[in-house]
Amino acid sequence: METTTTTRILDGKATAQAVRADVATRVRELRARGVVPGLTVVLVGEDPASQVYVRNKDKAAAEAGFAVKTLRLPATVAQAELERVVDGLNADPAVHGILVQLPLPRGLQVEPVLHRLDPGKDVDGLHPRNVAALWSGERGLVPCTPAGCIELLDRHQVPLEGRRAVVIGRSQLVGKPLAALLLARHATVTVAHSRSRDLAEIAREAEILVAAVGRARLVRGDWVRPGAVVLDVGINRLDDGRLCGDVDFPAALGRAGAITPVPGGVGPMTIAMLLSNTALAAARAAGFSERPAG
Ligand code: NAP
Repeated sequence: METTTTTRILDGKATAQAVRADVATRVRELRARGVVPGLTVVLVGEDPASQVYVRNKDKAAAEAGFAVKTLRLPATVAQAELERVVDGLNADPAVHGILVQLPLPRGLQVEPVLHRLDPGKDVDGLHPRNVAALWSGERGLVPCTPAGCIELLDRHQVPLEGRRAVVIGRSQLVGKPLAALLLARHATVTVAHSRSRDLAEIAREAEILVAAVGRARLVRGDWVRPGAVVLDVGINRLDDGRLCGDVDFPAALGRAGAITPVPGGVGPMTIAMLLSNTALAAARAAGFSERPAG
C-alpha cells in the first residue's frame, strides 16, 4: 500500500469562519458609512435540501450584519410572476445581492430568471454578463463555490501558478467557472466530464485535482497523484443518510498532499463567498473602493 504522505486536511469550516469574520468587518465599515448591505434569497417551492441551504444562508448573513430576507414563493408560481419578483428586487435600492435558490421546481425555466437579474446584484455570478466578465478578466461577480475553492487554496498558501490542475465536471455553477479562475491564476487546466476517456489517467496528471461531479467516491485512491491537492466539491447522500464527496476520502489519505473533507470542506466556503460577494456588490453600488475576496 502506498501510504507515504501525511495528508493535510483543508478545514473549510475554520477557513469559512475566518472569511466570514473578515466580511463582518467589511459590513461594519459599510454600515458606518451609511450602507446596510442587503441580501434577498428567492426560494421557490419546498425542496428540503434548498430549505436547509437557505436557512444556513439566512443565519450566516444575519450574523455577519447583513439585512437578509427570504422571499418564499409556491412551486406553482407562474414564470412571469417569478420574473416580476426579480424585477422588483432589481429596482429596490436596499437590495444589493439577489440569490435565486436553484434548482427551481419543474415547469419553471432557470435561464430567463438568471438573465433578468441585475448583473451587479447577481451574487451567484450566473448572469451571462458575469460569466463573460470571468472569462475575459473584467470586473464582475464570481460564482460562490468556485470562488470558495480558490479562497480556500489561497488561505492555505497552495501555489497555483504553473501547476497542473484537473477539474472533473463542467457545470456552469462549478466546473467551468473554477477552470476559468484556475486559468486566471496561471495554472495549466484540463476540464474532464462524463464523455472524457481515460479519466483515471487524466486525474493522475493533476497536482491540483478538483472533483465536481455528484457521484459518490468516483475518484478512487489510485487516481490521486502522490502529493496532489484534492478539492472535493461533490455532496452525495449515501443510503445510510451520511454525506460523502466525489472522492474516496479514506483511500486518498496518505496519498494526497492535502484534501478537503465532506462535509466541512468546500461547502462552508460557498456561503462565506456569498456574503463576500454581497458586501462587494453593496460597496460597488455605493461607489466605494472594493475588496473582492474574504
Ligand atoms: P452538475 O451540473 O450535475 O454537473 C456535473 C458534472 O459532472 C457534469 O459536467 C458531468 O459531465 C460530470 N460528470 C457526471 N458524471 C461523470 C462521470 N462519471 N465522469 C466524469 N464526469 C462526470 O453538478 P454541479 O452543480 O456542478 O455539482 C457537482 C457536485 O458538487 C454535486 O454533488 C453538487 O451537490 C456539489 N455542489 C457542491 C457545492 C458546495 O457548496 N460544496 C456547490 C455546488 C455543487 P457532462 O457535462 O458531460 O454531463
